[in-house]
Amino acid sequence: MRIGMLATVLWATLTACQNVTYDYVIAGAGTAGLLLAVVLSENPDVSVMVLEAGNDARHQSNVTDPERRGTIQHTQYDWGLESTLQPYLYANGTGGSQYVPRGKTIGGTSAMNWMIHNENSRIQLDIWESLLNLTGWNWTSMSTAFRESETMFGPPAAEAEDLPYNASFHGGAGPICSIFQRSVYTFFSNCVQPSLVNAGYETPHDGNNGNANGPNFLPFAVCPQNYTRSYSGSAYTAIEPRPNLHILESAHVSRITWNSTQTPLTASGLEYIDTAAGNATSTVHAREIILSAGIVYSPQILQLSGIGDPFVLSAAGVDTLLNLSSVGTSLRDPPMTNYWPISFQLNETAAASANLTGNEYIQNLIDLEPASQMLSPEDYEMASTWLNSTSSIPGLADAQFAVFKHLWFTEQPLIEMAWQYTVANVTPYNLIPLSQGTVHINSSDPLHPPAIDPNYNSVNVTLNGTEVQWDMWFLAKASQYYVTRLATTEPMASMITGTMPDYRLSFEEWYDAIFEWTGSSQHLTGGNPMLPREAGGVVDTELLVYGTKNVRVVDGSVFPYQPSAHPMGVTYALAVRAARILQGMPCGGGLTMTEQLPASNVSASATAMFPMNSRAV
Ligand SMILES: Cc1cc2nc3c(=O)[nH]c(=O)nc-3n(C[C@H](O)[C@H](O)[C@H](O)COP(=O)(O)OP(=O)(O)OC[C@H]3O[C@@H](n4cnc5c(N)ncnc54)[C@H](O)[C@@H]3O)c2cc1C
Repeated sequence: MRIGMLATVLWATLTACQNVTYDYVIAGAGTAGLLLAVVLSENPDVSVMVLEAGNDARHQSNVTDPERRGTIQHTQYDWGLESTLQPYLYANGTGGSQYVPRGKTIGGTSAMNWMIHNENSRIQLDIWESLLNLTGWNWTSMSTAFRESETMFGPPAAEAEDLPYNASFHGGAGPICSIFQRSVYTFFSNCVQPSLVNAGYETPHDGNNGNANGPNFLPFAVCPQNYTRSYSGSAYTAIEPRPNLHILESAHVSRITWNSTQTPLTASGLEYIDTAAGNATSTVHAREIILSAGIVYSPQILQLSGIGDPFVLSAAGVDTLLNLSSVGTSLRDPPMTNYWPISFQLNETAAASANLTGNEYIQNLIDLEPASQMLSPEDYEMASTWLNSTSSIPGLADAQFAVFKHLWFTEQPLIEMAWQYTVANVTPYNLIPLSQGTVHINSSDPLHPPAIDPNYNSVNVTLNGTEVQWDMWFLAKASQYYVTRLATTEPMASMITGTMPDYRLSFEEWYDAIFEWTGSSQHLTGGNPMLPREAGGVVDTELLVYGTKNVRVVDGSVFPYQPSAHPMGVTYALAVRAARILQGMPCGGGLTMTEQLPASNVSASATAMFPMNSRAV
């Protein structure tokens, strides 16, 4: 919908909604919230209102053009937040405070992200059910929901050899399109991939098949027809106007309103501040309340509504209605060496032969590896000994530590090496940090952002008698081991003059370089973990906030631990699964995997046909 039309509908809605009780009111038209609204409102008898603090940017090329990814940051469509100072990060001399961009627009952070679109591996999601007691949450239910959200297009014929793809692990009729990149930087296919295979890493395969390990070109959420970003905003565009789905822009949700403050609390609606109308306050009433305001603002809304840790709430001047001290905890941000990437310096011959065909540049060779492939045998043994002899560490729920250990010993991806450049650079990324932090209010003013404290690199452990900061130690060890292995294996060894930093540095020197260059990956999750209440949970397996009758959270704040996949795909899966729960239709419906995937999965087996020389319009 164009902006004028949207405004008309919104105005009609604004005046109409005051006296209406909706079935659902959702705080936040973001990645999860807007997709959830689109799916729920497929039933014409269900009414949905979405309150979004930001404005519509679906017409902006810095949203729609995949090649312009990142340029929406520091605009009005970015919350542009900052973390608290981080004492254990150097972060290129910033003193550790990290920029926290988040989409403040229709589509939320799916309108500003890098569009990498992948799934977790089977073991990682099965653990939700087996180790964390989250009944019904496992790889089968989540990948079924992921496929419901996706329409996947196969690789362009010219690149098919580099882009292994199995249609049966993708969806064919969902609202989010996925494609492979349209061309491959020859340095990746001629050098990186074969060197990795020669060095003993896994051969490329479709990483959505339950085994996410190995170097793969991951899909992007892009519509092939016009080469534009595919995201929850475009999913909404495809169905609007839908008479039973309304969105209010500039509607900053301030708190939940209550019918009854007897436990379990019963909500009546959401109060919001109309930032386009002099900050006037209004309320939308609904049967079911859903918070999808993301990792920063969903915990804030709960706390402003009187749900949280009484110490935190009273310090901010908010009365406690429900003592749920885990609200705002379990916040994680996997550290990533992204102030500067590690570069492989190509010799003259290699530089002359490394080229990129096509007119687009986003590249996406992502190598996900288990600890055993990223540490020397001695380091792996040392770290494993520590893990085997430790059952608890401060600041991390025992259940989450048990998950980490399980992932470690079952060879699940724990380190990512992201080759996303059109030069020979790679960025290491510690996928599952042990450090966790908080997002807590420090003011009762809803327009004042809460304190975001991912508490980076704060877990100290003793390995073989030496105390180390675990998250940075693992990242530094892993990156040096990987870069050394790759730099000394053919064909890479003959194609480079060296690496920056030099892989032959002592570990102490290498560590210093990695420490200086490491900061946020922007993949924050947590804050309202889905866990049993006694294990530090905020929501149960139906995403219902403990101690309430009708308040749910559906966004990246509920992930019980950090996904090894990039979080967007898991967030879409969460939204679809939440819709199915709400509709009373358990996701998957007991079908086998084969039955769940339609045999006539036309688009999933189709090759993406791109418009020639297209750029987003
Ligand atoms: C720069 C960047 C690059 C990334 N790249 C990738 C990638 O390539 N692949 C990947 O998988 N993941 C990526 N991510 C992460 C991924 O995009 C996020 O994890 C995911 O989109 C979060 O979805 P969400 O639904 O939890 O929150 P959001 O999408 O942020 O949705 C929250 C919504 O709520 C609105 N809102 C907030 N507060 C209020 C309020 N009080 N009232 C009303 N509305 C409110 C917001 O404006 C927003 O629309 C990236 C993230 C960033 C920042």
